[in-house]
Amino acid sequence: MEKGLRIREESENVNNEKEYETIQELTARLRQEQTLPDAAFRALLQMESEQALECLYGNARQVQEAHYGKKVYARGLIEFTNYCRNNCYYCGIRCENRKAERYRLSENAIYSCAAEGYALGFRTFVLQGGEDIFFTKEKLGSIILHLKKLYPDCAVTLSFGEWDEQTYKYWFDCGADRYLLRHETADETHYQKLHPPEMSFADRRKCLRKLKEIGYQVGAGFMIGSPGQTLDTIVADLRFLQQLRPHMIGIGPFIPQQDTPFAAESGGTLEMTRKLLAILRLMFPKVLLPSTTALGSIHPKGRELGILSGANVVMPNLSPAEVRRKYQIYDHKLYSGCESAQSKRLLASQMASIGYELCMERGDSLM
Ligand code: SAH
Repeated sequence: MEKGLRIREESENVNNEKEYETIQELTARLRQEQTLPDAAFRALLQMESEQALECLYGNARQVQEAHYGKKVYARGLIEFTNYCRNNCYYCGIRCENRKAERYRLSENAIYSCAAEGYALGFRTFVLQGGEDIFFTKEKLGSIILHLKKLYPDCAVTLSFGEWDEQTYKYWFDCGADRYLLRHETADETHYQKLHPPEMSFADRRKCLRKLKEIGYQVGAGFMIGSPGQTLDTIVADLRFLQQLRPHMIGIGPFIPQQDTPFAAESGGTLEMTRKLLAILRLMFPKVLLPSTTALGSIHPKGRELGILSGANVVMPNLSPAEVRRKYQIYDHKLYSGCESAQSKRLLASQMASIGYELCMERGDSLM
């Protein structure tokens, strides 16, 4: 072997060895204390050797198993409208995207999705949509009431953006159990890079606080690799989550969408998403942590690898087949195969292939 090459390889080995020791130490500390200093979080996020990362993921799996066993909770996702009054730069259903084919499901179509899901065994329905003012407080309220009357044993989760406190309270009183509202980023300058000036960083955070006060099980979260994200903004996200203590945390890679201002940006990676899933599992042992569709969309085994990094929720799609391709918040979004609830069996066998069990219970937060 050429001498220079050998020296380089040896020094790489030494580096990997060192990285492994560091990650073992940091992972053990994070597992025990559920937090780390900023610099240690940044160091963890920069680890690259496979051996080191396996140590992080392995610890996350042990913590996940201690609380949830080998269960992965299934939620049925109903994307009920892609009309949106907002104009987030990353999102394919932003109001200025004239190419998006708009749709909204009728009340009856929503109930048939739920009926189909119920028959398949789903006990959580997630109503997700753009901020569509057609669905007024009363209209969505009556849909929630109706769903809870038909399926009192099911949880209803809303993922419908920013509304005022009375509206959130009204929907809660109608029976909504949970609310997903990703904070998107905890760094104000970064927030402004991702959103138009009329959207407010403070408002989004206020919504999350109000949702928690009202009594919802709350989900926050952020994209991995969004334009302008840095190790420091990620550490800010972790600190924000420590303050908020949400019941659920949704993270997934940013994926550029061709008809948005971020079309030419690069997307988030599988590795960074896996690292963050594992870190979040160690920080919040009982949190409900989905292996998202976005992760499944960037890698053929993305969803399984997410579970193997500490995630414990999957959210297959219950929306009618003909609207699924229209809810393109990013390019190449999965909407068939394992992504459709009808293929529940396929999803269950995917989970079984990595030693996990697809669990159809309501799966409320343990927090
Ligand atoms: N209108 C709702 C639901 C938005 S869609 C709300 O405001 O909460 C749900 C999540 O998809 C968003 O919170 C965002 O984090 C994510 N998302 C949007 N565009 C994306 C993209 N291009 N790549 C990856 N994730 C995206």
